[in-house]
Amino acid sequence: MTTLKLKPGVVTGNALKELFAYCKEVKCALPAVNVIGSNGANAALEAARKAKAPVIVQLSQSGSQFYAGKFLDNGAQQASIAGSIAGALHVRAIAPAYGVPVVLHTDHCAAKLLPWVDGVLSAGEEYFAKNGEPLSSSHMLDLSEEPLDHNLEICRKYLSRMAKLKMTLEIELGVTGGEEDGVDNSNVEHSKLYTSPEDVLRAYDVLGAVGNFTVAASFGNTHGVYAPGNVKLKPTILRDSQDFVQKERKTAAKPLDFVFHGGSGSTPEEIAEAVSYGVIKMNIDTDTQWAFTQPIKKFMDEKSAYLQSQLGNPEGPSKPNKKYIDPRGWIHLGEKGMTARLVEAMKDLGAFGKFEF
Ligand SMILES: [Zn+2]
Repeated sequence: MTTLKLKPGVVTGNALKELFAYCKEVKCALPAVNVIGSNGANAALEAARKAKAPVIVQLSQSGSQFYAGKFLDNGAQQASIAGSIAGALHVRAIAPAYGVPVVLHTDHCAAKLLPWVDGVLSAGEEYFAKNGEPLSSSHMLDLSEEPLDHNLEICRKYLSRMAKLKMTLEIELGVTGGEEDGVDNSNVEHSKLYTSPEDVLRAYDVLGAVGNFTVAASFGNTHGVYAPGNVKLKPTILRDSQDFVQKERKTAAKPLDFVFHGGSGSTPEEIAEAVSYGVIKMNIDTDTQWAFTQPIKKFMDEKSAYLQSQLGNPEGPSKPNKKYIDPRGWIHLGEKGMTARLVEAMKDLGAFGKFEF
């Protein structure tokens, strides 16, 4: 297959569908990184430039709130809505300067957070009316705590609204273990951590005719990083689900686009196996948080004597410390750490250098 050529900017609609199809064809997936401000977004775009592969920039509900500033009241999700819009507009404005294709996504939205996605979708509809394309590429609804039929019914309603904007919906079947964004699934019933092929077929039947969707299926994956041995990944669930839908509905091979949540802490072998079964997106958050924070901690430790006052350091009592104090210096170290970690993820996911733009 010839290398996929992409235009710089936000990838949406059929172009996104084609991008995911290409990923399955050449057995690669794209990293989806949670950002909480422009620094993380810029670091992600730089990773895409360095790796010659598209990156997925995503905002969670609390990440969006943080993007808007934790000063704001968020009782009706207004800060999260404003932050998601701001993040999307920032990426839209800056992606052409980096010259990279990027997928813009929002992360987990549980039932109680639906007003957040409602608000972002309303802004998306306004944006679509003016520009003929959606503000974001996709949203995720995570109704995995609801009974399956209820989950899929809500997803169907949202997908019919989103399909008009050429948007893609990510759904969740089964539960991602661990804790993220204030949702604690550490003690969830064991069987729920593994999606069944029958559930995946049901989702295919309900959503397939409505629009483009991806499935975060659970195969023992967990948010956060834990000591080895705590997580029993069974990626073959993904393979079995693909085969089951293909057989039952007589589709081409690998009819579904799978999403791997909780990629942090996974081995390259586990990642490669999941990708071979049709995973096209892997979420990464804890590892990039670490990669951002660690170089800043090192700087603060090493330059501690230069950060005690504006004047005076080991070189003399009246020496100015301005260049150590300036947050641009140490924030950029965090950005570079995050970029390097994402480039590594591009390699693990097999996406490095597999695209042209
Ligand atoms: Zn997740």
